[in-house]
Amino acid sequence: MVKRKALLYSSDRVNPTYGSLMASSATPLIDPPETIESPTREVFCDGGPGALGHPRVYYVIGEQNFVECGYCDRRFVLKTGAKKTSHH
Ligand SMILES: [Zn+2]
Repeated sequence: MVKRKALLYSSDRVNPTYGSLMASSATPLIDPPETIESPTREVFCDGGPGALGHPRVYYVIGEQNFVECGYCDRRFVLKTGAKKTSHH
């Protein structure tokens, strides 16, 4: 009795807070299908030819140094060696 009550209590408290945190920052359960290194922060994705194609969308890689395409889940990462912070 006491044990079960404690379990319910702790999971109730943990899930809402840490659940949303993990969703945005933890390793996703499914790996992105493709990772593309970009030398610049401005990238675009059209999904490539074939079935994965989608309207061309532009992204700007932010402070996290990567951005994921909302259409095809490709991940664009800022290429190592590129300047990390713009200075303006
Ligand atoms: Zn895409």
